[in-house]
Amino acid sequence: MSVERILVVAAHPDDEVLGCGGTIAKYRKVGYDVRVVFLAEGITARYRPDEFDLPEVTGKIERRNANAKRALALLDVDGKDVFTSLRHCCRLDQTPLIELTKEIERHLVDFKPTRLFTHSTDDTNVDHGFVHRAVLAAARPVAKERRLRAIYAFEVLSSSEWNTLQPFAPTIFHDITGHVDTKIAALAAYEDEMRAAPHPRSPDVVRALATFRGAQMGAAFAEGFVLVRGIDL
Ligand SMILES: [Zn+2]
Repeated sequence: MSVERILVVAAHPDDEVLGCGGTIAKYRKVGYDVRVVFLAEGITARYRPDEFDLPEVTGKIERRNANAKRALALLDVDGKDVFTSLRHCCRLDQTPLIELTKEIERHLVDFKPTRLFTHSTDDTNVDHGFVHRAVLAAARPVAKERRLRAIYAFEVLSSSEWNTLQPFAPTIFHDITGHVDTKIAALAAYEDEMRAAPHPRSPDVVRALATFRGAQMGAAFAEGFVLVRGIDL
């Protein structure tokens, strides 16, 4: 069991790389265990409910979840540490919060993370906010959970920055100099999700954000996080 154990709880496949892909690569390089849990697929928001079972849609869901494993393999996260979901996306507000909470609790018990990375509460995407709330409920700071020393919120391009009245304001940074190309390569595994600049989910904008977050801390490239909770950091 590694000294630090990193649990990433994300709504949709690609959020984890956009949010903390460079940090995942950095932690894996020093041998820390990383587990990634998704709570929904990332496809059905683009379809009507009566289309969800069409082979075209189920095929895309399968492909997106397979791409998650490809992307995370590029960050050196083993497939057995990646937990995808078939829960419909952009409908987590219709899922009882307790269901999400219980699922996260199972991973807390099983994986015993020391640090947890998840969504910000202020993203425009409804699922992101619900995942944040479910994490807070699951990771209640009772004594037996003391091993979990920190919860961080990450920013997801094409969601966090679109809430213009509540800008993401990171307080904690990870220097990802040396890992930004790996992050962009991992995002390329999500070929159906990436776009050309100036769309935020483009290699140029991902690099630009990493450059800006780095500039805030005197590093060439960084990822920024909001510290949600921490003890003995
Ligand atoms: Zn998302």
